[in-house]
Amino acid sequence: MPRGRTKEILHTARIDQANAIGRQRICRGDRRNHSIPQGCWYLAIKDGLGEKSYCLECARAILLRGREKLEKLFTELEKAEHYAGG
Ligand SMILES: [Zn+2]
Repeated sequence: MPRGRTKEILHTARIDQANAIGRQRICRGDRRNHSIPQGCWYLAIKDGLGEKSYCLECARAILLRGREKLEKLFTELEKAEHYAGG
């Protein structure tokens, strides 16, 4: 196991709640047809110095894609461990 704190690879994503007041957030997945009403939950993804927001429908698609990627990495890791173990 790594010493100290394990590196976090998904630190750029979080589920957050839009302010009930303040500016209206737009969904970057489909800014014309999707909306993030004030007070509702959304997915925030850090992007450089800024942050992009996605409605829950887009959030699900993005997270499913991330999960597929993680599963693929686990498969590759297990293969690598198998070969490393001889
Ligand atoms: Zn959306």
